[in-house]
Amino acid sequence: MRPPRGGYNTRFAKKCQRSNDTSMSETDKHLNFIEQIVTNDLASGIRERIVTRFPPEPNGYLHIGHAKSICLNFGLAESFGGACHLRFDDTNPEKEDTEYVEAIKRDVQWLGFQWEGEVRYASNYFDQLYAWAQYLIREGKAYVCDLTPEQAREYRGTLTESGKNSPYRERRAEESLDLLERMRQGEFDEGTRSLRAKIDMASGNINLRDPVLYRIRKQHHHQTGDKWCIYPTYDYAHGQGDAIEGVTHSICTLEFADHKPLYDWLIDNLPVPNKPLQYEFGRLNLNYTVTSKRKLKQLVDEGIVDGWDDPRMPTIAGYRRRGYTPASIRKFCEMIGVTRSDGVVDVAMLEHAIRDNLDKNAPRAMCVLNPLKVVLTNYPEDTFEQLTVAGSPNRGDLPNRTLPFGHVVFIEQDDFREEANKKYKRLVLGKRVRLRGAYVIEADKAIKDAGGNIIEVHARIIEGTLGANPEDGVKPKGVIQWVAAHEHTSFEARIYERLFLEEEPTSGGRNFLDAINPDSLRIVSKAIGEIGLAAASVGQGYQFERIGYFCRDSKADTPVFNQTIGLKDSFNKPT
Ligand code: ATP
Ligand code: MG
Repeated sequence: MRPPRGGYNTRFAKKCQRSNDTSMSETDKHLNFIEQIVTNDLASGIRERIVTRFPPEPNGYLHIGHAKSICLNFGLAESFGGACHLRFDDTNPEKEDTEYVEAIKRDVQWLGFQWEGEVRYASNYFDQLYAWAQYLIREGKAYVCDLTPEQAREYRGTLTESGKNSPYRERRAEESLDLLERMRQGEFDEGTRSLRAKIDMASGNINLRDPVLYRIRKQHHHQTGDKWCIYPTYDYAHGQGDAIEGVTHSICTLEFADHKPLYDWLIDNLPVPNKPLQYEFGRLNLNYTVTSKRKLKQLVDEGIVDGWDDPRMPTIAGYRRRGYTPASIRKFCEMIGVTRSDGVVDVAMLEHAIRDNLDKNAPRAMCVLNPLKVVLTNYPEDTFEQLTVAGSPNRGDLPNRTLPFGHVVFIEQDDFREEANKKYKRLVLGKRVRLRGAYVIEADKAIKDAGGNIIEVHARIIEGTLGANPEDGVKPKGVIQWVAAHEHTSFEARIYERLFLEEEPTSGGRNFLDAINPDSLRIVSKAIGEIGLAAASVGQGYQFERIGYFCRDSKADTPVFNQTIGLKDSFNKPT
């Protein structure tokens, strides 16, 4: 097998290493079907170098489904020493905006990928596409049609019934050329004319029934301004954009399989400089999640969430704000793989990927969401210690943390009971518990308010229990977290549940908004944490011990921590 120019890099090399054998048959087992195709194309010499592209329409923010396409397209270029382009499919100016262009660029880079060369736009090719449209007309392969969209729909036929030729189909080329130019000059109203390819109105594939190539749209465009008032359709612009850029493998989701004959027809009938091929893979669907920009936009527009980057949104920007790491999203995309069929992936798998990543990497911190005051009656009021604990049990490279300790500490309200059975391994009157990284304490008394609520606990430290068991042999049953009263940081914690209560929020044609979880955000306004958290930077994830993984919010002016994910893993566990 001949390696491509530039050689294979890590992912492919790793696959080879894993199989411990670089012969085709062994390594092939680990390749997905697209990697397999690329491997064959390079080995047979059909392609010298591969070029892929990621082609988002800038009409919304990228979501987790796009991450799959990004990892696939950019990943192939990386693995096989090729290139991946970022090309905005900007053929529908009405719904597009430069805000989305900027957000998409940021998200691709945040995921760890870099496109080759400049950012590209389908609109870069509008002049060439127009010239090729004229070419098709001259070749007798396209015509200007005067049917309105409604009439054209009637002529198109159905899945079971063939279509009828448009009365304008045999119009002379000169006339179509003239009309197309006048369409471009803005002479006609929207919907009065279109340019259509002349293919086959009786085709079993509706996409081949004289598809529209150009429509009149009197719209300002974010890239081309007011230069154009006719815009190419996606089908016309896409494959030709691929050809112009030298894309070799044009990878898209399965719903475009029916468009492939049209993709090929256009490439075959135009004097394009290069012949790309389209390949389709199964799109990512996640349960309890909506992956449609249109629906996500509705959540934003109707104020159901706080913008595209709301931490509950399945957008890349939302995951980033919530504390997901690029590595965890890439890992998830690797876990789900790439196949030829659509399926629904359990969102628990994505949650597992981030939990696993943070468990290994995140520094630990102690926090209390609902503080209960504990007065340590035998610990002097004027004595303060600095205790030292590890940054994380899994990261020897992290610096130790320093925890101030004194006469009063706070614990979680849930971690104290006056009485409890043996299963409750926290603080109980007359019993002992260890304060993580500090002393064993024993509770003596609960102080209550007029309503009978416990507002304070009096306890004693057991001497000599810093890093040692009690000398009297009475060991504590459990370990709980705590925060010093005299020195700590205060913040708001935002705890998230899934945004949808239903596994398939969009199934059965129902309104997906009916499946919204009304309790998807819980705000804990008076949380406190160890003092080191005052310096937490945005993007740094922490494990708040015994609570979950958290990350400082990037937007709020006051200190806010978003819960990334809880500690309990439901993935692959019997429920
Ligand atoms: P949406 O339906 O959310 O608007 P889209 O397909 O219209 O998605 P594009 O901006 O056109 O969005 O998508 C850019 C690329 O990402 C396309 O190649 C598309 O096939 C791919 N893509 C979009 N959604 C998914 C998904 N759920 N899984 C995998 N790839 C996806
Ligand atoms: Mg699209």
